[in-house]
Amino acid sequence: MTATSHITGKKINRFTHIHHSTEDLVKKSKMGRLLGSLTGCCFQRCVGMDAMNALSMTTYDIDQKYGTQYNKHFLKFLEYVQENDLVCDGAIVVRGAKCHQTGAVNSHEIITMPTISMREEDKDYAISFAVPADTEGITYILGRQSCDTRKREEGTMDRGNQIYGGHEALVVFDDVFVPWDRVFMYKEWDFAGQLVEQFASYHRQSYACKAGVGDVLIGATQCIAEYNGAQKASHVKDKIIEMNHLNETLFCGSLACAAEGHKEPSGTYYVNTLLANVCKQNVTRFPYEIARLAQDIAGGLMVTLPSEEDFRSPEVGKWVEKYYKGNADVSTEDRMRILRLIENITLGTAAVGYLTESMHGAGSPQAQRIMISRQVNMNAKKKVAKKLSGIDVDE
Ligand code: SF4
Ligand code: FE
Repeated sequence: MTATSHITGKKINRFTHIHHSTEDLVKKSKMGRLLGSLTGCCFQRCVGMDAMNALSMTTYDIDQKYGTQYNKHFLKFLEYVQENDLVCDGAIVVRGAKCHQTGAVNSHEIITMPTISMREEDKDYAISFAVPADTEGITYILGRQSCDTRKREEGTMDRGNQIYGGHEALVVFDDVFVPWDRVFMYKEWDFAGQLVEQFASYHRQSYACKAGVGDVLIGATQCIAEYNGAQKASHVKDKIIEMNHLNETLFCGSLACAAEGHKEPSGTYYVNTLLANVCKQNVTRFPYEIARLAQDIAGGLMVTLPSEEDFRSPEVGKWVEKYYKGNADVSTEDRMRILRLIENITLGTAAVGYLTESMHGAGSPQAQRIMISRQVNMNAKKKVAKKLSGIDVDE
């Protein structure tokens, strides 16, 4: 969770670190999984980390080409972030908006970046900078989440996850002033695509977080199997094996793109982009299957369960207690708590992070498929096939 700053040599939070080896990249994947498993939701720090690593490379490359000072600006900002262990968010332009922005309301700094490759006529939008999250002119309009009003009710059982939860927002910039030394790109439209691709690839690696949330869901599913008294059924055991297989496959992709990383001219280590895209493509699918299996094993009670208010009611509480008892050694309350956690991750507020964000965060599935088709070396594959079948390779 900590690293040594390449700027000051001090011990810093790894979320503010610039990767300087493949070991750093692998540790990033492991950190994501660990935190996913400790929080059971999106912990919202990776966007800033990925934006900063991408900027460490692109600002350097722009300076090399145009003699600008962006890398100096960036390193000054980075040192401030490292010294204060700040949470940063990644977003876009000066007047405009970023829809469904993860982590915006709980970040210290907003790092804005272009979101697509640009042509010369788009150059007014090829801009990157950082501003404090409470800068005048920025408004956050909080996203609604399924079952969110449960957080306002008395009692906490119906929330599922008792400790953590993430938030998304529509972030509106209405003529926000940005000081020049916080600018990392200004109209260098020919670098917009590179910055987007680097940020996206890092962020696709970051989705090891979903394997961590998967750990929580698999643990909850094993618990409910036991609480329901069904843990010995062979199909239940087999479904839990399947959940683990899928979850570990997610983790493999994140580790693989890290281990296959390489050094860029700036000195920053960059992930293998093909494997990072394969990793994220799996993330758009497997959590849904893991969630389906969790709901299968949990049973319908997960969605028909009465509220905590009814459970504590002097009138009907005794019946909830009696009729929702499963395994004789487990209290009805514990059974209800685990069911609520599974509901939270697969249908409630945490399903935003575990399911929909797995689908669309760091780019929707088609974005990864385009990258996979671009990055695969098809000529090399054709060449080996032709050679083995006796076709003239030069043809
Ligand atoms: Fe990090 Fe995962 Fe949340 Fe993205 S979705 S910020 S990778 S925890
Ligand atoms: Fe995300």
